[in-house]
Amino acid sequence: MTGPRDAASRGPSTLAVHAGGPEPEAGAPVVGPVVHAATFFYAEEGDGELRYTRYSNNPTLQAVARRIAALEGTPAALVTGSGMAAMAMALLSLVRAGDHIVAARDLYGGTSTLLRTELPRLGVRTTFVDGQWADALEAETRVMVVEVPSNPLMRVPDLPAIAATAREAGVALVVDATFASPVNLRAADHGATVVVQSATKYLGGHSDLTAGTVAASAEMIERIGRTMRSFGPVLDPGAAARLERGIKTLAVRIARHNDNAAILADWLADHPAVASVVYPGRADHPDHAVAARLLRGGGGMLGFVVRGGDEVALAVLRRLRLLRVAPSLGSVETLVSMPRYTSHTALSEEERLERGIAPGYVRVSVGVEDVADLQADLDAALAAVC
Ligand code: PLP
Repeated sequence: MTGPRDAASRGPSTLAVHAGGPEPEAGAPVVGPVVHAATFFYAEEGDGELRYTRYSNNPTLQAVARRIAALEGTPAALVTGSGMAAMAMALLSLVRAGDHIVAARDLYGGTSTLLRTELPRLGVRTTFVDGQWADALEAETRVMVVEVPSNPLMRVPDLPAIAATAREAGVALVVDATFASPVNLRAADHGATVVVQSATKYLGGHSDLTAGTVAASAEMIERIGRTMRSFGPVLDPGAAARLERGIKTLAVRIARHNDNAAILADWLADHPAVASVVYPGRADHPDHAVAARLLRGGGGMLGFVVRGGDEVALAVLRRLRLLRVAPSLGSVETLVSMPRYTSHTALSEEERLERGIAPGYVRVSVGVEDVADLQADLDAALAAVC
């Protein structure tokens, strides 16, 4: 099942298992082989396409890329050595010195640093916005960048409205949909020009690989692929094979992440040691209406504010026995972190408050364990400290 016509008519669980996989021919392996080769024979100079793994035309990389394109609903895709590589290659292929970017303020710290520190060295400026996209556009603006949902507050910007602004201005819209995965959000269906994922998270799903994906039109992927050839952040074929295996269970994992997080969010909201809960699937989330319209599930990411502030929250984290205290997200195991010590440590206390990151804010990537066990572990840690 590799043709785009097939892919368009299948559901995400079927695509996750089959898209881009081997054709069912007698004697062929059911699971595609892992081609570790760095280079490939050719007969004569100019004899068709030169195959070289850094060019991303290794068959194992191409198979995963086909699966990603099918899941994202785009004509083409490519895989990269990390989520940051995916974002960097997408942006570098779209801008040149003198150009301008408009980006959401609420972004993953690594993407913020890329926009604030690295791109300015190449003569590319960024204006950060809290929703006033049209006001920030300049004659030199070439790209708009947004995360849906955002890190760490799970804000859900109105993607179709942002896409309309981008289209009117003739500007490319790059959407990082890592927190949703293509199962909860197909950003290209809502107007994204380029969809970026950190495949380290939900797509891989097991905290055992680092990868990124870029999905877009064939022309755009060709362009980003050319940039990648020069910068070289290719995904190792071994990691690509693990990624393909992880993707096969993406839809069932996401269904469980959605269910567990919704239950845990409601339970935490009623807990006396918790001041507030952040979850887009709940009616008290500021973007609940947009989330209900845009997302196919509330997602596996939630946040909560421990009464008493950062020190008390840290003490709670130290007492957890089942929930794992680690940065990153999107894996089968529940991972807990405090953004003020991880992704948003570069911000001042004042900036964090301004962004809505309250003292005592804990981010949870809810895994696929039995939710009653997660509740029991959290309850014991909260009761011991609060
Ligand atoms: N985008 C988002 C939303 C992230 O949370 C992260 C990492 O946490 C990245 C991109 C970067 O991904 P990677 O660590 O695979 O480079």
